[in-house]
Amino acid sequence: MLYHSTRGKDSDKDFASILMQGLAEDGGLFMPDYWPQVDLDEIKSKTSFVDIAKCIVPLFTSSSFSHDETIGIVESTWHDFEHQDLIGIKEFNSVAILELFHGPTAAFKDFGLQLAAAFFNQVLESENKTAIVLGATSGDTGSAAIDACRSYDRIKSFIMLPNGNMSEVQRRQMSTIKASNVFALRINGTFDDCQDLVKLAFKKRDFLNTDQYLLAVNSINWTRIIGQICYYFYAYNQLHNKGNINFSIPTGNFGNVFACYSAHKMGLPINKISVAVNNNDILHRFFSDNDYSKQIVHETVSPSMDISVASNFERLIYDFFLDRDSAKCAAMFDNFPANPIELNSKTWQKKEKLFSSSKVNDLDTKKIIQEIHQSYGYILDPHTAVAASEALRKSDQGNPYVVLSTAHPAKFPKIYEELGIEINFLPAALKGLFQKEESLHTFDADYNQIINFINLNN
Ligand SMILES: *Cc1c(COP(=O)(O)O)cnc(C)c1O
Repeated sequence: MLYHSTRGKDSDKDFASILMQGLAEDGGLFMPDYWPQVDLDEIKSKTSFVDIAKCIVPLFTSSSFSHDETIGIVESTWHDFEHQDLIGIKEFNSVAILELFHGPTAAFKDFGLQLAAAFFNQVLESENKTAIVLGATSGDTGSAAIDACRSYDRIKSFIMLPNGNMSEVQRRQMSTIKASNVFALRINGTFDDCQDLVKLAFKKRDFLNTDQYLLAVNSINWTRIIGQICYYFYAYNQLHNKGNINFSIPTGNFGNVFACYSAHKMGLPINKISVAVNNNDILHRFFSDNDYSKQIVHETVSPSMDISVASNFERLIYDFFLDRDSAKCAAMFDNFPANPIELNSKTWQKKEKLFSSSKVNDLDTKKIIQEIHQSYGYILDPHTAVAASEALRKSDQGNPYVVLSTAHPAKFPKIYEELGIEINFLPAALKGLFQKEESLHTFDADYNQIINFINLNN
């Protein structure tokens, strides 16, 4: 299996190359050259998440790793989960909640980032090289990246966080890590400022040692998507006797939705994929009005979805809407966001087959949390609540829904104080966080200052 860019100029890349490279040279995103097919009977016969992952991951890695090497990595990748099979499932009538937050940072991002980090390390060991991870985070990516990489001595992580809307728990998950290869940089600026600094660093690369990689951990990294594809097949393994399932997915950068779409292309039977957003509604505007245009970011009670553009969306445009026409894709995204994207109406209509979308504001998010708590004594995190909205509405009509639960509610305690709901279970990941000392290195959004700091610690 080789990979190519959605914009057509970068192609015939093996798995290790795209793992270490992140974004393609032409600014596009890497895609597998074809969709490998999965044997559903084999998936049904498996008894654990890891056994299912062993059927999926090797389909993507064979250009760089032998089957045995990949299986070895998959068996040892996911660690420090607080659930015997990594994922929990709670069912309320026709709605199943897929709990993906039992990992060490209490959000679903552990699935993708632990897999990426394990493969990073494997490549670094075999080439005897080191790497710098440089990322910007508005919430859960940073802590999952730090946690996934901290045990690998060859990797140093520098994560920039804005003075923004992330919860204090989320910040402390990054600032209280005591490890000599982890640095949390607080930037006086917005998430967009942080991302611009990261982009500039990837362009200049003027702080790297010889034989040192610069690694991207944002959700465009294909290996993160692979890790996430696995749990859609796990949901099938657990719930296939309910009929063709609908998935409702709380969305920011569209990584999780694209993983669901990928699983579908690999043979997973799906009825509809519901794309659920908060007031940052670029994806909902696209699916309901054919309007994909960048607007300012609104702060919401589901901060990990507060984005202005959805970076993985280019993959869907390329594969689903444009039937892999990279020239058309490049023409659209080379000029985005300056030129908004609007598909011709016949192309846009294709969405009807597979997608629906919903937008849920803060008030309704809180209402859903309260309703579910009152009816079932179950506490949804605010991101999950955004996705539960459409599922609750439509499951009444006899459609079974799986709602992806992307974070543990204890990461966002403020909203529950306000609603008078007591969170009576704290995951191990979050215990003692407020007793620990924070170590944050504060900077203005100034490239040179930040690079000086990286140089001093590299
Ligand atoms: C990152 C994140 C999301 C959004 O995921 P995407 O893959 O970017 O769409 C949703 N919920 C939580 C809790 C997250 O951390």
